[in-house]
Amino acid sequence: MSSPEAGVEQPVEVEEMRKGGRGDGRFPAFPYEPYSIQVDFMSALYSYLERGGISMLESPTGTGKTLSIICSALQWLVDQKEKQKSKVKVESDKNGVQSLSNSGSDDEPDWMRNFANDKKNQGEDKKKVKFGGGFSQKGERGKGESNRDLLSRDCKRGNGESCGEFISKSAEKKRFQTMKRCEKMQSKTVAVESNDDEFLLEEYESDEEDSISGGRSKRKVGGVCISSSSDEDEAAKGSDDEEEGGLKIYFCSRTHSQLSQFVKELRKTAFADEISAVCLGSRKNFCINEEVLKLRNSTRINERCLELQKTKKNDVSKMKNIGTGRMRRTKAVSGCPMLRKHKLQRQFKEQLFQLGALDIEELVHLGSSLGTCPYYGARSMVPSADLVVLPYQSLLSKSSRESLGLNLKNNVVIIDEAHNLADSLISMYDAKVTFSQLEDVHCHLEMYLERFFNLLGPGNRRYIQTLMVITRAFIGALNEKNRDDLNTSKKADNLPAGKITIASSMAINDFLFTLNIDNINFIKLQHYLKETNIIHKVCGYGNRTATLQASSTFNDSESCGEDISTLSNFRAFADMLLSLTNKNTDGRIIVSKPKKTLSGQQGGYIKFVMLTGEKIFSEMADQAHAVILAGGTLQPIEETRERLFPWLSLEMLNFFSCSHIVPPESILPVVVSRGPSGRVLDFSYSTRISSATVEELGLLLCNLVSVVPEGIVVFFSSFEYEELVYNAWKSSGILDRIQKKKCVFREPRKNTDVELVLQKYKESINNLAQCNSIDAAPQNGALFFAVVGGKVSEGINFSDGMGRCIVMVGLPYPNPSNIELMERVKHIDGLGDGNAISNLSLSNDELYMGDVQAGFNILRSCGHRGKEYYENLCFKAINQSIGRAIRHADDYAAILLVDKRYASDPSKRSNPCPTDKLPKWIKDSLVPRTNNYGELHRLLHQFFKFNKGRGDHKK
Ligand code: SF4
Repeated sequence: MSSPEAGVEQPVEVEEMRKGGRGDGRFPAFPYEPYSIQVDFMSALYSYLERGGISMLESPTGTGKTLSIICSALQWLVDQKEKQKSKVKVESDKNGVQSLSNSGSDDEPDWMRNFANDKKNQGEDKKKVKFGGGFSQKGERGKGESNRDLLSRDCKRGNGESCGEFISKSAEKKRFQTMKRCEKMQSKTVAVESNDDEFLLEEYESDEEDSISGGRSKRKVGGVCISSSSDEDEAAKGSDDEEEGGLKIYFCSRTHSQLSQFVKELRKTAFADEISAVCLGSRKNFCINEEVLKLRNSTRINERCLELQKTKKNDVSKMKNIGTGRMRRTKAVSGCPMLRKHKLQRQFKEQLFQLGALDIEELVHLGSSLGTCPYYGARSMVPSADLVVLPYQSLLSKSSRESLGLNLKNNVVIIDEAHNLADSLISMYDAKVTFSQLEDVHCHLEMYLERFFNLLGPGNRRYIQTLMVITRAFIGALNEKNRDDLNTSKKADNLPAGKITIASSMAINDFLFTLNIDNINFIKLQHYLKETNIIHKVCGYGNRTATLQASSTFNDSESCGEDISTLSNFRAFADMLLSLTNKNTDGRIIVSKPKKTLSGQQGGYIKFVMLTGEKIFSEMADQAHAVILAGGTLQPIEETRERLFPWLSLEMLNFFSCSHIVPPESILPVVVSRGPSGRVLDFSYSTRISSATVEELGLLLCNLVSVVPEGIVVFFSSFEYEELVYNAWKSSGILDRIQKKKCVFREPRKNTDVELVLQKYKESINNLAQCNSIDAAPQNGALFFAVVGGKVSEGINFSDGMGRCIVMVGLPYPNPSNIELMERVKHIDGLGDGNAISNLSLSNDELYMGDVQAGFNILRSCGHRGKEYYENLCFKAINQSIGRAIRHADDYAAILLVDKRYASDPSKRSNPCPTDKLPKWIKDSLVPRTNNYGELHRLLHQFFKFNKGRGDHKK
């Protein structure tokens, strides 16, 4: 392959990197002759890995970024392992047999020297939870919050008088029914009493009030981590105990298809046979137990899988207890059948070793053919793997890392598609509990307490009563009659029923004060939940009760939230409690009231929205030797730095950016501010739905379909807007005019349907191209209506004929009525100048009602940072969407930015032009304004005439 004229955009001292990195700048595993920008990218990455710390590397999509990452990072890994081996050899030659921990020399980086020692200490380190230090200057959690008094005096008898009478009517009814059930149960308990013992909690002792270590169970019970993702499964432990294989690279990306793509690229290189790689994913993706898969929902699949393993364990122990002295070594009769035979799990590993890197589908196939669980099979490979490929969630969430046993210490983390990392990261720490979940949890706690009150020790009683006080308080917060208690404005009363969601946001402390639960020590409560296994005891008892009820009262359709959904409800509640232990300024609490509908109340939830990512990111960065953020475009890097690693100055940050491999004549980006009839195209909020604007856009497309060959992709800002426009064109006849030239396809709302529609779109383009080569058919391609932020805009490639022209309709600013978004805007607005708290109080009493105007008011009152963040969200979405086209060096496409707001106004030179936020390779070729449609038509005609025939061999 020849190398086009494409240079490095950023002053990145490439020569220096090549010297400091892989001396000769050669990466022999690269399967083709690399372009110069690919060599530069690989050299930069190699040198950053040598240096360690946090680095950002951007390279436009279609420039072979994934392959470059593989060939550079794995080359570095192999080189390090070689160095390590030769060091050991030299040392043992010198001193006879000497341990690796004593090796090291002055020219060896500190982290390498420490690696062996650290590995020895890892066991101990795992026990410590360290915040801050290393890269981070600080990372203290809100100590103030930890001093809340445990279990207030108001809750002594568990009736929650101090919280007011918050319980809703439906909850009252449920309570009444529960009481009835409990009474019925009481009469039956003689027969089942001995069985109920298994649900009785061990006696629990609290420690001193000022200790944050909480209390302890008298007999150690199997603690259950409260977060659903962190729930540790015993079945996996045995197999995960394998020896760590040494230096590791963790590569993560957003979607499973991106991970599969990574594995495919890996196989193109020599590293596929040289290193050991394993791909991880969720149970939902890996599970091969048909019964469990039927649950469909990820949380429920997780819960069911864990439940199956617990059942298996319990059954084994029960057999031992009731046995007659004979130890039966037969495997448990219940539990997941896909995990019963250890021999099959061993075979799975052996085959995986032989086959090399497999993607998720292939692992599932292997597991299915052997009849053993691929999820646990893949997990068991992690300790010995050199490369672990996994989705965002598994790596970025601390509880997932712990659950999977991922050890980042002195290892390398590469995060691909990191263009929206800060938002993705913090959203993993959100917690949400709904009105109906709270009612279910409360109902189960009450039933449990009724049954065991006289058998429980004072510690347990107090904690359960406290949990009930909290559930009552939460339900009360959502209950309509207490609306005014939540500092919400009376103007909500004037709103139409059924239409709006009444939501308010507040800081953690305000929320706790308002609900009068500020005297509860949530850290001790967490400890109690973990130590006592109460969630499973209460849910187990609930299940037992429901089963008995069902068998004795055949027609009793009322049940108290039995089965796995109750467990999920408890998890959601427990996650919410965990979020209340965060620092006051770390996040906000959103209270969204149930909607009034004709059939009663619907919905309603309490949500914790995490706002700060610094602490979360530092937990990862402190451990790892290097953290690499890679992406097509990572701008604005300043925003990412401020939100995730503010302790690192911009000058200290390793940053590399390269240009595209396509020549400038292969791209035609044009700002289109007027339509064919000369009307101004303005898609701002107030004018975009006007029939004149919609019609003018339609006329523009009617013209484009005759000048653009093959496929056109049109991006709209939302599904709602796309539908409005589509229907308007349908009734006005514009759609018919378009369809005379091109077949029209629309992005379906359901992600699972996208694949099929895309396939038809592609076939349609290919078929018409063949027809046209034979005789002049009236149609000459297809048109795809897509939505910014939808599946198509994030992960689908429209290379070659699939996307000869991308039309971006308007500027897709996010909806300002989104309360969580506005909280983030306010938080970011306060970053860096120490006034985050004052800014956060900007709208403590603000009532959001799906009201766009309230959102605009907040944006208006924000300073530079808040506004900039809001703008950046819009341009990140645009860049993602237009980056779907031009996927390789021979590809070419036109990009039309349709809205007068894209055009720079020469009279307002002081205002930055929005197109400044476009990637440099697009900006460099941008035609910033066209005076009329004729000009645009001419440009397009020349562009496609010039490029005709190029890249056809790639189709
Ligand atoms: S052990 Fe594996 S196959 Fe069985 S339920 Fe869990 S994930 Fe599914």
